[in-house]
Amino acid sequence: YSSGEQQDVVIIGGGPGGYVGAIKAAQLGMKVTCVEKRATLGGTCLNVGCIPSKALLNASHKYEEAKHGMEKHGISVGGEVTIDVSKMMAQKMKSVGGLTKGIEGLFKKNKVNHVIGFGSLVDKNTVEVTKEDGTKETISTKNIILATGSEPAKLNGVDVDEKTVVTSTGALELEKVPETMVVIGGGVIGLELGSVWSRLGSKVTVVEFAKVIGGNMDNQIRTTFQRALKKQKIDFKMETAVKKAEKMPDGKIELTIEKVSTKEESKMIADVVLVSTGRKPYTENLGLEKLGIQTDKMGRVEVNVKDHTWETNVPGIYAIGDIIAGPMLAHKAEEEAIAVVEHLSGKEGHVNYDAIPSIIYTHPEVAWVGKTEEEVKDAGLEYNVGTFPFAANSRARTNDDSEGMVKFISCKNTDKIFGAHIVGPQAGELLGECVLAMEYGGSTEDIARTCHGHPTLSEAVKEAALATGGKAIHF
Ligand code: FAD
Repeated sequence: YSSGEQQDVVIIGGGPGGYVGAIKAAQLGMKVTCVEKRATLGGTCLNVGCIPSKALLNASHKYEEAKHGMEKHGISVGGEVTIDVSKMMAQKMKSVGGLTKGIEGLFKKNKVNHVIGFGSLVDKNTVEVTKEDGTKETISTKNIILATGSEPAKLNGVDVDEKTVVTSTGALELEKVPETMVVIGGGVIGLELGSVWSRLGSKVTVVEFAKVIGGNMDNQIRTTFQRALKKQKIDFKMETAVKKAEKMPDGKIELTIEKVSTKEESKMIADVVLVSTGRKPYTENLGLEKLGIQTDKMGRVEVNVKDHTWETNVPGIYAIGDIIAGPMLAHKAEEEAIAVVEHLSGKEGHVNYDAIPSIIYTHPEVAWVGKTEEEVKDAGLEYNVGTFPFAANSRARTNDDSEGMVKFISCKNTDKIFGAHIVGPQAGELLGECVLAMEYGGSTEDIARTCHGHPTLSEAVKEAALATGGKAIHF
């Protein structure tokens, strides 16, 4: 790559959308440049999202197991189990560092040009990159893909300092275990990071504006999930709004909260407050207005999804991932990346938005794909339901980890799967076969008639499928 050479495509953003699109474009023979303002590749996901949060979830789960889960198996760890937070963070950084470096390696292997700097649109064929030292480079290109991702949404009255009032980014880097933590927002990020610090010893309270936690989750699964979290001593204040956060002289944070129904105000004190009330598209100084690129009222770039082009209203400029509509998930961004690049190379790109898995990596995990029972009911569809508890699965019992269930919802006439919902051990991994079945237009009978290894947790999936069409064997 020599400066000045016209590119087939320039991708702004090196997250799961951007870097995957860049590799795929190179594999399809395109000249491609990926512009990323961070020094490391991988975007939110690898640097401050999916990966560091899973590293801490894993470490804190190990700690909790060592502290509370070993004795009944006859295992003594000898002495008091302690946690060294700085060591835990160092291990987290090791996984993050290895993976971000890995993408650099993949870029080299696939001959993707990587430019570090802030990218902005000059016109539909030109991207300007401002480097850290202030120097600028312009890149001329046939096509541009915007993949600039998202940032934490702000909450009125609550100022983030990333030390005591933190977003997910600060919550991934706390230097010590806070005695008390208030999590504002009971969505995926809040529940995962709340779980991390709760396991490490914080008294965690989740304050949620809505009636329910976990967003668009099947209600039966949600009930089991929330019960499990309560058992882990996580408290919930539902239908409660946070109005204000103030730092007190002793460094603690005083929150003013309000019951949504009665408007009754009260106070809460916490050592650390995590603001996890959602994320918004990051398109600052990108040059959208200058080029007249349309956004919706939530600031998301509008693209043509219907025709599977992901093109904005400006021909030759495309957008994918967290900056467009749809679930803010790394794998959704990656699917769009592959599809848009295939489209650019004259192939047919495709994303099945009905089969995008959602996973919460707490313990138990929650994982689902497709419609919830409530959605199927609201749509007036006739359906069958089958459930199977992990308590009746031999592997879950031998692992002494048998909280939760698998649930299928399928069409009453055709048995085609409408949705699969799992709360329990390894739910995220177990969901894979359900997503595949849905992608193939499969039925619960297809899963029920597939031989599953014994003893595995996946037999719970098979049994729930059996239960949908008739009866489970082991329950
Ligand atoms: P991003 O990953 O946000 O990447 C965009 C990149 O563009 C960034 O690196 C940014 O620096 C760069 N950029 C922005 N503007 C410019 C510019 N003008 N010039 C140059 N570079 C620019 N999703 C999951 O699927 N599973 C999970 O377990 C999960 N856990 C999460 C946990 C947390 C704490 C958080 C915060 C998020 C989590 N997510 C998870 C969501 C996931 O991280 C995002 O959906 C995903 O990263 C979106 O990918 P993207 O490529 O669209 O954007």
